[in-house]
Amino acid sequence: MATCKTCGKKIRQPKEMSVGAASRIHYWKFHRDVMLGSSKKKTKARR
Ligand SMILES: [Zn+2]
Repeated sequence: MATCKTCGKKIRQPKEMSVGAASRIHYWKFHRDVMLGSSKKKTKARR
């Protein structure tokens, strides 16, 4: 089972899913701000 490097929680990983995909889902759920971009800008518009 994979472990989140950010919060240290265990990441649920279905057998048919890769570690990367599972962790990505975890990140979208718990660390959305990380997924939305490491940039410091919080602007909504992005072109
Ligand atoms: Zn996490």
